[in-house]
Amino acid sequence: MRSGVTFWHRHRVVATAACYKRHNRRFPHVLRPAPATEEMNGSSKKIAVLGATGSIGRSTLEVIAASGGRLQAWALSAHGRCEELLALAQQFRPAFVVASDEAAAEQVDWSQLPANCQLLLGTSGLDQVAAAEELDVLLAAIVGSAGLSSTWAAVQAGKTVALANKETLVLAGHLVVEAARKSGATILPVDSEHSAIFQAISAGKRQELRRIVLTASGGPFLNRTLEELANVSVEEALAHPNWEMGPKITVDSATMMNKALEIIEARWLFDLTADEISVVVHPQSIVHSMVEFVDGSVIAQLSPPDMKLPIQYALDYPDRRPGVAERLDWTAALRLDFQPPDLARFPALELGLRAARTGGSTGAVLNAANEAAVAGFLEGELRFNEIVPACAAAVDNHEFDPSPSLDALLRLDAWAREEVSRWVCT
Ligand code: NAD
Ligand code: MG
Repeated sequence: MRSGVTFWHRHRVVATAACYKRHNRRFPHVLRPAPATEEMNGSSKKIAVLGATGSIGRSTLEVIAASGGRLQAWALSAHGRCEELLALAQQFRPAFVVASDEAAAEQVDWSQLPANCQLLLGTSGLDQVAAAEELDVLLAAIVGSAGLSSTWAAVQAGKTVALANKETLVLAGHLVVEAARKSGATILPVDSEHSAIFQAISAGKRQELRRIVLTASGGPFLNRTLEELANVSVEEALAHPNWEMGPKITVDSATMMNKALEIIEARWLFDLTADEISVVVHPQSIVHSMVEFVDGSVIAQLSPPDMKLPIQYALDYPDRRPGVAERLDWTAALRLDFQPPDLARFPALELGLRAARTGGSTGAVLNAANEAAVAGFLEGELRFNEIVPACAAAVDNHEFDPSPSLDALLRLDAWAREEVSRWVCT
């Protein structure tokens, strides 16, 4: 039984209404256990990996390949690199492949697809697999607001979503959470910080939580001065010290906008106020985040920086299995450093806290402006130190809507991109 179980409880402890009243627990809506694999009659879990050719997608396929058949790549999608999608289809033999960019799909000889593998095209193809009856878990690994539509379709259909695509919650957190509450959909975090919080938070009750502490590596420019930040190149911004990720999130890590987006993501996933979310810089990326309780205890989750662990945790939840992720070596000396973030050099963090505090339309504008500004930077049209000011200008100048509809958010998304494109041209 899925309903009534929350992340505030230990695995498989079903909370009744009486228990809810007794412990004065709030029931955050979106995080509840997916069915245990044992409950699935021995059949493998059918996973749709949307964004299969990306960094998270490829790590997910490694986890699936090493699962001994317990996880099955049931659907795969890609936008640009369709030849790679075809090769993945030949290797993993999914029931569906989705080529979301129809023009790119025309360049490929799909007659090479394995028998019984069906090709779907466009956003409607993504939405179709995300809401399909047979699907067990959607692994949402499309980058940017392009990931919203399929996650929305899955949430509406009451599915379990293992969410890497944080932009969906930044853009439309209040609507996604409300839709999940109505449909009974489950959203499990894949982002390493939120997976860490999810794993640590059950050490206490809701009213015992003081705050969560998101760790940030600080990215490649942690120790650069403001003057130096004016002249960094695209190559330098794409050279992250700890993580191998897609280009957009790598630039987000360099500006620390990634942490700003993660503040908003945490606000919605865990039903927190902005005051309950802190950020600390931890350059080694081993402590993935922490939960501080009212008595001063801090519970953390540690592991080497390897996304295969949070991916597998979400796919196997509520079980833990041996896996392919790297392990910490306790026979070697290990140093962990922590320092407060420098808000003057990384003003993106203030924007994240502001969006978490004000809610409404701010997240959607911030997200779209950032996507446009990062694309401008990658194309050499915007300097690195103009990305965050361009986002701040869009947030400041937009007409704030405290409870926007999805249509209103999409209109604001388009407006913010337009705003930044004017910035880029001046
Ligand atoms: P990536 O750029 O490596 O891969 C993106 C994937 O999305 C590709 O498969 C691409 O084909 C697909 N895609 C791109 N544009 C699309 C569009 N318009 N429509 C449909 N599909 C499209 O990105 P990534 O690093 O794997 O990140 C994916 C998501 O996971 C992002 O939201 C990111 O913030 C989040 N995330 C990534 C990491 C990481 O370590 N890479 C960690 C935490 C969260
Ligand atoms: Mg993260």
